[in-house]
Amino acid sequence: TETETTAVLPPPHPGAPSGARPATLEARSVSAWFGTHQVLAQVCLTMPAHRVTALIGPSGCGKSTFLRVLNRMHELTASAAMAGAVLLDGEDIYDRGRRITHARRQIGMVFQKPNPFPSMSIHDNVLAGLKMNGIRTSRGERDMLVEECLTKAGLWKEVRDRLRQPGGALSGGQQQRLCIARSLAVRPRVLLMDEPCSALDPTSTRRIEQTIGELSSDVTIVIVTHNMQQAARVSDNCAFFLAEQGTPGGIVEHGPTEAMFERPQDPRTADYVNGRF
Ligand code: ADP
Ligand code: MG
Repeated sequence: TETETTAVLPPPHPGAPSGARPATLEARSVSAWFGTHQVLAQVCLTMPAHRVTALIGPSGCGKSTFLRVLNRMHELTASAAMAGAVLLDGEDIYDRGRRITHARRQIGMVFQKPNPFPSMSIHDNVLAGLKMNGIRTSRGERDMLVEECLTKAGLWKEVRDRLRQPGGALSGGQQQRLCIARSLAVRPRVLLMDEPCSALDPTSTRRIEQTIGELSSDVTIVIVTHNMQQAARVSDNCAFFLAEQGTPGGIVEHGPTEAMFERPQDPRTADYVNGRF
């Protein structure tokens, strides 16, 4: 059973502007079920440090489930089960000797619909994950962290004079950047993003894409997107998921994004990236 733990913020890593040390995430033969319904079968994928990996594929092929498996959220759903392993720089995040918070602190998540705490201040929203993850910080450290994370999320200049205003007063795109800032506050080594721009207008989308580009030097990014142009713009590597009639989801093809788009090896990938289904 999970109990409250206390920990300190990881020390800034001199090589990375964010202070975090990006990690390589590796899924080894990951399968997942909801009850008896298998939604992923033996997915193998390496998501290298310092790179953006895009997960593409039609609705219902298991992309969100895969992301949830990657940070131990899948197991929070009743009847959910998984098999296989997820390695963070070689360390199994499902290791029975480790608490769930050990994985969650290192692997952050941003969702499709921006979900800041609407009545909580912008300042407190950024810090909200620290307590939840049992991380203690000093007051001075917290104020610096708020500025650091809002800067990294590309929001600092817009909100520096209104940090005490509620998160819910921001526009949708700003709220999503606030959520990115919140997930960065624990100095994660990997950031998982599940269609982070689907609910946003094109201008906000471009701002987030720009932020992703800037963040990729200090956090490993895995992004699910329905937008092929976005995958082409933001990712280094790409994995194409598919769940064919009556079969669980799996990866048809993966590799460097440019090669996947220019010279897909599988006809199903070619059809998908060219918008034929
Ligand atoms: P994607 O993100 O690629 O659209 P999902 O991972 O959301 O795919 O869903 C994969 C499959 O798992 C779908 O068939 C979906 O209906 C099923 N599924 C997703 N969430 C649940 C849940 N909480 N309970 C039962 N089935 C689910
Ligand atoms: Mg999804």
